[in-house]
Amino acid sequence: MTTDRLAPQNRKNLPRQTSWTGPVPYITRWSAERHPPLRLVEKRGGIGYADEKPYDRDTRGVLWSRTPSIPGKGRPQFGEVHTLRQHRAMAELLCQVCGGPADRNAEGVLWLLGEDPHDRTSWPAELLTTHPPLCRPCAAASLRICPHLRQRCVALRVRSFRPVGVRGALYRPGLAAPLPVGAVGVAYGDPRIRWVRAGQLIMRLDDVNVVDPASWADG
Ligand SMILES: [Zn+2]
Repeated sequence: MTTDRLAPQNRKNLPRQTSWTGPVPYITRWSAERHPPLRLVEKRGGIGYADEKPYDRDTRGVLWSRTPSIPGKGRPQFGEVHTLRQHRAMAELLCQVCGGPADRNAEGVLWLLGEDPHDRTSWPAELLTTHPPLCRPCAAASLRICPHLRQRCVALRVRSFRPVGVRGALYRPGLAAPLPVGAVGVAYGDPRIRWVRAGQLIMRLDDVNVVDPASWADG
């Protein structure tokens, strides 16, 4: 398994879940967590920050969004993902809900994906996701709280996985400064990645087995 690691400077901004508890998922962005004004410039045949610091890029040289990590401040922005916590949860296999270790047994790491478990033909050949794994109690609670999820999701044990790219904001060259183009998912080998301000890590899941949530979700 290979995982990207955040620079140590970024890690110190990412406390484990200590100051807040409850149903707000670990990776959810809070309203006070806004990135400061950005000044993007063209550099290295792509984009960079005018006042770039080494920790603005990961070990592959990908530029990441700058978002302060102050979970619990303001209101949770359900449906929006906090960049660094998503990155950390994915890279370190932390539960996307509580931030503790994701569940892992001999069958692999536990993931819940929003796919129809009864229709394997609808699955893409490559299983790519930006959703980090879960621990067993949080996966069970998610299924209990949201019956809809139970109908439309599949629980997976995944033995092999690796980060393959990022989702983020794509830019193109502009006269005064790089111009935003839109949101994209880009693989590490794609030259456009130098023009992306990354927001989420994309994981490729291989060696995947579907498991029946009923066997443990109600326990
Ligand atoms: Zn959890």
